[in-house]
Amino acid sequence: MRPTLTTHLTRIAHLSRTVAPRRASAVLSHAARRPVTAATSLVVTSASILPGSLFSTSAPTMTNVQKTDSEWRAQLSPEQFRVLRQAGTERPGSHPYDKKQDTGVYHCAGCDAALYTSKTKFNSGCGWPAFFDTVPGAVVRREDSSMGVVRTEIVCANCGGHLGHVFKGEGFSTPTDERHCVNGISLNFKEDEGK
Ligand SMILES: [Zn+2]
Repeated sequence: MRPTLTTHLTRIAHLSRTVAPRRASAVLSHAARRPVTAATSLVVTSASILPGSLFSTSAPTMTNVQKTDSEWRAQLSPEQFRVLRQAGTERPGSHPYDKKQDTGVYHCAGCDAALYTSKTKFNSGCGWPAFFDTVPGAVVRREDSSMGVVRTEIVCANCGGHLGHVFKGEGFSTPTDERHCVNGISLNFKEDEGK
């Protein structure tokens, strides 16, 4: 977790107190009224650039990789950022991974965690890469009601990057009858790692 403004102010006040107790206390009491406003505006700013997450009912997922939007933007392409960090969706049939059949492992394009193997990939005909299972523990599910219907969003467990959605009971002849509908751009395929 990033330190909140209040935490910073408390630290500043604590440090200052050893030098000038009264003055530090005055600074804190003056500043203490401000964090609420500052924090609120921070939340609004953050939400306004995350349209895909605006109506999500799920709490943010705690992940190992914690980066700011600026850090993600510096690392990802604009389209990767839109999909991975803003829960966007790539155009169906637009990514070569949709039809890819090589043996290997699909890693997260954000943090490189191994997410899916080619052994669980199948052709669903939906226009996006489809998998019937994940690398154990690599993908987290959460409820997503952003489009007016409740769907199950899937995100990378390591960095929280948006992958797509998972659907169950569609009648595909796979061991799980689940379809992990994953944006190809959220993935990075590596050959010869398939076991
Ligand atoms: Zn990731």
